[in-house]
Amino acid sequence: MSKLLQAPALRSYIAHILEASGSAPAEAATVAANLVLANLSGHDSHGVGMVPRYVDAVREGGLQPNTAVRVTLDSGTLLALDGQRGYGQVVGEQAMQLGIERARAHGSCIMTLGHAHHLGRIGHFAEMAVAQGLVALHFVNVLSRPVVAAWGGADGRFGTNPCCIGVPLKGREPFILDFATSRVAQGKMRVAHNEGRRVAPGYLIDPQGRPTTDPGVVVVPQDGGQGPGDGSGSGEKGAGGGAHPPQGLFGALLTFGEHKGYGLAVACELLGGALSGGGTWHRPADTARAVLNGMLTILIDPARLGTQATFEQEAAAFVDWLQAGPVAPDHDAVRLAGEPERQARAHRHRAGIAIDDTTWAEIQAAAQKVGAPPIQGF
Ligand code: NAD
Repeated sequence: MSKLLQAPALRSYIAHILEASGSAPAEAATVAANLVLANLSGHDSHGVGMVPRYVDAVREGGLQPNTAVRVTLDSGTLLALDGQRGYGQVVGEQAMQLGIERARAHGSCIMTLGHAHHLGRIGHFAEMAVAQGLVALHFVNVLSRPVVAAWGGADGRFGTNPCCIGVPLKGREPFILDFATSRVAQGKMRVAHNEGRRVAPGYLIDPQGRPTTDPGVVVVPQDGGQGPGDGSGSGEKGAGGGAHPPQGLFGALLTFGEHKGYGLAVACELLGGALSGGGTWHRPADTARAVLNGMLTILIDPARLGTQATFEQEAAAFVDWLQAGPVAPDHDAVRLAGEPERQARAHRHRAGIAIDDTTWAEIQAAAQKVGAPPIQGF
């Protein structure tokens, strides 16, 4: 069962809860818009289902409402920023605005952002850059719970570390590649577990490091209700909910692409975590509800690189060539990254956003927790 809501109504309701949780109206509106856009884009794991966890993180002090990004170093094309545990949807946008200004002025910008609370869908930041004609690369680590195993390792050692590349394409929709380096989002494992399903081989290992198709090995038992976790909608309860079992009782997610995806996940930890100053994960799981992200962003203005004309022609020629190929029997089209999200947006803008009953109950519980006055229809 699920509840079907139109985006504007859902945005207002979520903003209402966030305001009751301590955010100024502008912040609440920005965070709500970002979360609803993730739902519209088809990534429910990074949508409004995060609100219960954000509410808990604010109450614990791990997430600081009404906090702006702080510039710790500014040398023109190099920017180092501290998110100061503010809402990632807010400090992430502030950081991108600064970085975009620099890339427009100088041709490029290398920017680090440490200690941001959950940045959500990283593609949002690439979309901001490509809208200004810039190429964007993002490497991100997640400080929440070590749920992904190293290639050759037998337990979780790091998070779902996302990587994102945005490329503007003249006269066409942009290329927006945006993915977790784990084979699958942890939130999808909770859904499968709740539905009593097994998952395909190659996603998971059990607490002994053996391959398994049981999604329960990465799902922390709940004390009634679930909340997203590990920056990808995992649903474990921390402080204020059930305590985590000892780490040895968990299995782990595997990275995509075997040793290659694993290498990219480590690169995200080293660049997004260590280089940004935000920190890397090197401790057992704890019970904190905050999800912190570190991000390295590289922005390039093709117009300033002197290759604009070739870039536009060659990119278009390649995309045409790609899409002129035959379609494989079990596929309906050859798509470019970014297209599925745009299609989902068009569809969900019309048809509405379906929120499953468990997620909806948790959102309402969060609203009650912060004393948000009831709104008719919700
Ligand atoms: P996913 O597996 O759905 O992959 C999404 C990417 O693949 C997109 O770029 C999409 O356009 C592309 N894609 C999908 N189908 C395609 C097709 N048929 N042809 C071509 N390209 C196709 O995504 P995911 O790994 O589940 O990640 C989901 C979201 O979670 C991302 O937005 C990511 O940034 C976010 N995330 C955030 C955090 C965090 O801590 N902030 C952590 C992990 C993931």
